[in-house]
Amino acid sequence: MTNQRILITGGAGFIGSHLTSKLVELGNEVVIIDTLLRGNKIPQDVFSKVEFHQVDVCDSAKVAELAKGADVIFHFAAILGVDIVADNPIETMETEVNGMQSVAHACAINGIEKLIYASTSGVYGHLALEQSVNEEILVDPHTSYAMAKRYNEIYLASLFEEKGINSIALRFFNIYGLRQDNRMVIPRFIEQAMKGEPLTVYGTGEQTRDFTYVEDAINCTINLAKNVQGFEIFNIANEKEATIEELAKEIIRLLNSKSEIHHIEAPKKRYDYEVGRRYGSSEKLLTHTGYKPSTGLQEGLSIVMKEV
Ligand code: UDP
Repeated sequence: MTNQRILITGGAGFIGSHLTSKLVELGNEVVIIDTLLRGNKIPQDVFSKVEFHQVDVCDSAKVAELAKGADVIFHFAAILGVDIVADNPIETMETEVNGMQSVAHACAINGIEKLIYASTSGVYGHLALEQSVNEEILVDPHTSYAMAKRYNEIYLASLFEEKGINSIALRFFNIYGLRQDNRMVIPRFIEQAMKGEPLTVYGTGEQTRDFTYVEDAINCTINLAKNVQGFEIFNIANEKEATIEELAKEIIRLLNSKSEIHHIEAPKKRYDYEVGRRYGSSEKLLTHTGYKPSTGLQEGLSIVMKEV
């Protein structure tokens, strides 16, 4: 993907900033809209090369104006982080629903036929499966965040039918990497281990996640964006299950930290969000692009730790 004019919503956020860096490096003209509510994670040398607008994605008129001439929109703006989302379920939903409508409107009036949307593996909800989840299974969203993401996936399918806008929804599985903040478990544990504080494992620590390294996720995203036809959903998963207990132990080991592991009860507001087991299949991704995430957890953690 090169020589394209690309609008990224949420381009200054964690995943968005990695996407921004890569698309700039590949020689694209990148326009970003972001509220900067969580700060600007775009590296300085990259920031000087993008067109930046501090705009809320829900501001439909502004988004439509800024999208003029874009070949593709990456819609990555969202409210996220379990604690924040649980405290602000209505704003979360509004940002998802109004944000998507605003982006869809921008596509429609500017004749933009390609849209890439950051959905979530959260749409699989509590499905406790004996195997990794693929895109074909029935989903079970049960939080406002996951519900809104699922709603948008369905909306995108209808946008293709009604307006011919081609799109992809990416179901990201626990993405981690440089510049992530401690709303998420990996940076939180690294910070605790570096300070010699106890690592706060919620519950037994037997719950699993499929931690996917951000550079892999971005490469997959860009590969998929090269060929968008109709509406498709893709898991972006590392296909490896790790328990939170294993994660905590690995972080302590890699940092040679003196920290202990404390098992504590998760904050009540997290109850609805907690999932016992989650790992995904990236087979569809591999079939379509010949590539899937490959960075192991230990390797990815080591890269992150070198920079903090
Ligand atoms: N977690 C934990 N201690 C923390 C923060 C998170 O044990 O201080 C666990 C949490 O219970 C969940 C996993 O780490 O099982 C991933 O949490 P995160 O909020 O990063 O993402 P989620 O997958 O829940 O959206």
